[in-house]
Amino acid sequence: MTSTFDSSRYEKLKASGDLPSPRGVALAIIRLTQQDEVSMAELAKVIRSDPAFVGRLIKAANGIVAMTRRPVVSVQEALMVLGLPAVRTMALGFSLLSNYRRGTCNGFDYDAFWSRSLTTALAVQVLAQRNRAGAPDELFSLGLLADVGTLALATLYPAEFSRLLAEARRYPELRLADLEHRAFAMTHTDLSAAMLADWGVPKVLIEPVRLYETPERSGATPGTRDYMLLHTLLVASLIAELCHAAESDRGALFARVAELGNSIEMSPAELASAGDHIVSLWVDWGDTLELKVDNPPAFSTLLAQGEASAQAEVRVLEAAEETPVAESAAEEEIADSTVRVLVVEDDARVRRLLRQVLEESDYAVYEAANGRSGLEMALEVQPHILLSDWAMPQMDGMELIRALRATRIGRNVYILLLTDLEEDERLIEAFEAGVDDFVGKPVKPRVLAARLRAGLRVVRLQQELERDREEIRRFAAELAVSNRRLQEAALTDTLTGFPNRRYAIDRMQQEWVASTRLGRPLSCMIIDIDSFKQINDTHGHDAGDAVLRGAADALREALRGQDVICRTGGDEFLVICPETELSAALVCAERLRAAVDRLAVEVGGKRLALSISVGVAVRDGGMADLDALIKRADQGAYLAKQRGRNRIEAVQGDAARTDGQ
Ligand code: GH3
Ligand code: MG
Repeated sequence: MTSTFDSSRYEKLKASGDLPSPRGVALAIIRLTQQDEVSMAELAKVIRSDPAFVGRLIKAANGIVAMTRRPVVSVQEALMVLGLPAVRTMALGFSLLSNYRRGTCNGFDYDAFWSRSLTTALAVQVLAQRNRAGAPDELFSLGLLADVGTLALATLYPAEFSRLLAEARRYPELRLADLEHRAFAMTHTDLSAAMLADWGVPKVLIEPVRLYETPERSGATPGTRDYMLLHTLLVASLIAELCHAAESDRGALFARVAELGNSIEMSPAELASAGDHIVSLWVDWGDTLELKVDNPPAFSTLLAQGEASAQAEVRVLEAAEETPVAESAAEEEIADSTVRVLVVEDDARVRRLLRQVLEESDYAVYEAANGRSGLEMALEVQPHILLSDWAMPQMDGMELIRALRATRIGRNVYILLLTDLEEDERLIEAFEAGVDDFVGKPVKPRVLAARLRAGLRVVRLQQELERDREEIRRFAAELAVSNRRLQEAALTDTLTGFPNRRYAIDRMQQEWVASTRLGRPLSCMIIDIDSFKQINDTHGHDAGDAVLRGAADALREALRGQDVICRTGGDEFLVICPETELSAALVCAERLRAAVDRLAVEVGGKRLALSISVGVAVRDGGMADLDALIKRADQGAYLAKQRGRNRIEAVQGDAARTDGQ
């Protein structure tokens, strides 16, 4: 399929103003990071004006720093850890996530889309931390936006795309991309790539996005960075698919993930451990972003199931020759037979002897006749122990060991060298190349068996250590999360879940500073529930609490994405509206008033009517400080009460403007 999608077409789409694009604070962040000389302090200030982004940024930074250091807690530290390009793309991703949670394309599940994008982001980040395919922080954002073209199609062509999705669901054999191409002369991947390019994402990161769904179209050579990146994104997207798939489909999906493991230098066991880590992050992030996490998979179980069915297959094949064994002995046998030993030896007679000794100890034996094929096999079977001859044709033992030690897989292999040369200098050279132990030739079977047992002890200790390390990493991550939760709790009102007064003052100060520096308008509102005391007096304090919660929910629902609402007192709330003129703030206030007015809270079987009075104010040149702005909004609220409640008032200078009922 050739695409007719080109840059002039994209420019036209962009000019229509209908493409998903970042807004508010994210836009300010993106603009700032495009400047050459932006100071970290300046950027941190703008970022701080959006607490939701602050939380997500710090969380992302903590997902990336080595677990040995203490958790990142400040914006400035997070900026240092992540760097400007990553922060920029992250602002972009999170801004789209906040602003495109809903839309008009009925057949498109916006929440599911973001949940899937989030798992891709976390998966590609975790995989990159392990296989070093790229900078994990950059890849997190890339994962979040890798499928943004699909969101764009849903936004640009809601009705037509809805129909396409239904068609793709009805006929699973049709590829969505083909349908898109037929309908729009472009595919979601074309659009994703064009949007990322437009947002300044580097080309090396865009190509994987364009091609990961059709890797066969990529010309990347195995082993190159491009190849790794593309396949890491592909595996990440499969892991995301698995996370959202029905339980019955997960086994097959994990088998596909495991099959692709080689292309990104990860074994099935490593992929399973990465998968479990991804799930734990997903649960945590899902909470932060209010994206539902439904029945997350257990990758370690999927791995065990996969191995069990593979072993069952082997057993069926071997059943005819096998004599039954006692149960406890069988268990031991399985444990030892999972130890893989690779023998690299050019002399076939010696290979036979070694195989015999090894099979007597029930190890799984693999053979290669020279260093080169030994290296290939080592990378493929990932042995626990390597038994290598020294002098061999093509590639000798020393070259093999050096090459193997340079790979990630080869670092953990226990290497035993077979040698008839026991001169000190030669042995020292061998140990320096990465050999763990040696066995003299001709091989004495009992001595070899004893040395293998010693090697196995080291292998097992190493595995335990790796497990412990993983545990510590997980523990540190949990600790960092609970620390942040504690910090959040100190700034949150427990009854409504809104930020509290302390936070409100701090945030207002930041907004005030940002509005001064950027020369942008700033509005705020004071909201007070009407005759609330009476509800308490008539129905009791608990009923009053329930009414407060109901009112808070209605306010939250009716609020714009960029506004911040805080509970500043008993029945009083402050709404901060950054970059907002008075006229827009009045429209918002009216929406809030109407939402509460429509509300009929049920208390003790009775439906209570509820209303609020709202004072709105915008910053003007005559205001010396923040207190003056809040005071003006307060005066408005007072006036609204005086003029009969359930209304909105804006006091500007000496004049009062009424927009209420
Ligand atoms: P107005 O229309 O003038 O605002 O009248 P009002 O009755 O609402 O008066 P006011 O705003 O001064 O009273 C707020 C009341 O809210 C006083 C207090 O008893 C009650 N209150 C404060 N905090 C809580 C709370 O957490 N739960 C409950 N149930 N009531 C609270
Ligand atoms: Mg009141």
